[in-house]
Amino acid sequence: MSDYNVLKNSFKIYPHSWHDLDDGCVFMADDGAKDVLVVCGSKASDFSGEEKTVEGIGVKIAGLIHENADALRSLFPFTAPSPVLHEKRSVGTGDRLGLATPGHIRVFRKYDAYPVFAQQSIRELNLTGRTFADVMDSATFAVFREDFEKPWGADGDHLKTFEEIEYALKYGFTMITLDCSEHINNDAAVLPDEEVEKLYKPDSTLEALYMGKTFKVGEHSVAFSEIEYKRAVLIYGEAIDYTVQVWEKYFKGKKNAPELEMSIDETESVTTPYQHYFVAAELIRRGVNITTLAPRFIGEFQKAIDYIGNVPDFDKDFAVHAAIAEALGYKISVHSGSDKFSVFPSIGKYTKGHFHLKTAGTNWLVAMQIISEHDPSLYREIHKYALNDAFAEASKYYHVTTDLSKVPDVDKLSDSELPSVFEQNDARQVIHITYGLILNKKNDDGSYAFRDKLFADWRTYAEEYAQKLSEHIGRHLEEVYKGFE
Ligand SMILES: [Zn+2]
Repeated sequence: MSDYNVLKNSFKIYPHSWHDLDDGCVFMADDGAKDVLVVCGSKASDFSGEEKTVEGIGVKIAGLIHENADALRSLFPFTAPSPVLHEKRSVGTGDRLGLATPGHIRVFRKYDAYPVFAQQSIRELNLTGRTFADVMDSATFAVFREDFEKPWGADGDHLKTFEEIEYALKYGFTMITLDCSEHINNDAAVLPDEEVEKLYKPDSTLEALYMGKTFKVGEHSVAFSEIEYKRAVLIYGEAIDYTVQVWEKYFKGKKNAPELEMSIDETESVTTPYQHYFVAAELIRRGVNITTLAPRFIGEFQKAIDYIGNVPDFDKDFAVHAAIAEALGYKISVHSGSDKFSVFPSIGKYTKGHFHLKTAGTNWLVAMQIISEHDPSLYREIHKYALNDAFAEASKYYHVTTDLSKVPDVDKLSDSELPSVFEQNDARQVIHITYGLILNKKNDDGSYAFRDKLFADWRTYAEEYAQKLSEHIGRHLEEVYKGFE
């Protein structure tokens, strides 16, 4: 048998990535320009790449492409996702650039929450020009590189149509977040009572179950007045029907079915406790096994900035939502969870440590902060493009209340002051929501204006990025854990 260890002298190996096989080895190395897999022994034939002889040993140099990710997943099951949403605590880390998982892994070695490394919405895929295959593969390669052997999940986030669900299922996503916003009648939330009476169609089964009833949930109770019951039916009736339809088509009785999260958070109106109770109780009565549900809470959960609203009010409201979830047997999911430091302890406390928390864009902001520190002229150029061109477009599909007049003038900041831009909320939002336009901006000759330079910088400062990101996301978990530990 060959001594494969001699290969360690000839490659710049990621130390945790070394994996021995019965008659060979697989590891990841940095070839200077990019990362590659190096495979030796009989399993080399499972991978596609270039055959070489190094130190007298035949090896295959395999690129980080989809078919090699598939080969890795069948050879090392820990590099494939598995359902983790049902675990007590889970956190979605949505990696927009395909670079964040090594930093995220450091956090989940410390905390007992289960990560959902691969998590993207169709909107994010469209804006970054990525695919579900690519999102999954980036997570697989990172998990292999760092030898992270704890289960991790993959979330097809905010999926709306059958087509989108099938797309995520095809690539083995282990949870589906069903976005019912197109089936929610927001107008009914603000209709005068007389209009609600007129539009409501009598349903004796539902009336017997909910109308005028009060339900005990832990130490709280949820009371349905006649009008509130009717209003809930008008707002959510169709969304419930749609979820039942999706459940029966893709989940019920299916082998290896993913876990289901129902999301009603991207709506104009706040989900009241009785509306939450109604939606969940109806889904359960109709046979849908939801693992998590994402209501829209009071106050504002805008992207990548702290909670906007009164924390004692949030606590009062959130306590009832958490009690409903506990009583009915699923977990609360908190979306847009990046940087919500003032309410993290409440989330831990009222859920008694049983939650799903989604963060997404904050890893992009940390990546851009790295650029502001190390490549100030590139940062200034991007910042001005985001502010003066891209923001107007991006704010059409992201809900933010940014005051552009408060964004610091990057031409007046010295290079060393530049990273302080990320301490200012309005600037954070400008950079946060314009990611797709920044990444895809092209020059007149068709080349990318920023993309290639950005990825080159991120490769140079990869270790610093991993460290900063793990500190930042680590602070999220530290605060949430304060609530229940
Ligand atoms: Zn959401």
